[in-house]
Amino acid sequence: MTDELASRLHSLGYRLTPQRQLVLQAVEKLGHATPDEILVEVQQHASAVNVSTIYRTLEVLEELGLVRHAHLSDRAPTYHSVSDHEHFHLVCRNCHRVVSVDPEVVAPLADRLREEQGFVIDVGHLAIFGECVECEDTDA
Ligand SMILES: [Zn+2]
Ligand SMILES: [Zn+2]
Repeated sequence: MTDELASRLHSLGYRLTPQRQLVLQAVEKLGHATPDEILVEVQQHASAVNVSTIYRTLEVLEELGLVRHAHLSDRAPTYHSVSDHEHFHLVCRNCHRVVSVDPEVVAPLADRLREEQGFVIDVGHLAIFGECVECEDTDA
């Protein structure tokens, strides 16, 4: 955890509590994770933490712009860190694999929607569902 992050949180009136730090580290380690998966990871370090604490903490971290969520299944939202590059998601309906893709790929679509509809896409929240290359091969 960087000092820079701690002071940024401080300037926003938040403290980087050990709990927030653990949750953020869990998200970074897991890549894409639901609150339940994050809970399991955090409990290895802080066994008293429960899932509602995880939800609350994730909300704070998202407000601070440290994590994002996307809807990658019809269950709980999936959280990911924003410390890596911004990305959107391809989700395989069959094997549930999540692939992170550079926003460049949807730039033509985003530009066109902005021009024609005045609509700005929230790329980090975007998930496109379909079938991954491996599942498609199996079908063939
Ligand atoms: Zn993601
Ligand atoms: Zn698949």
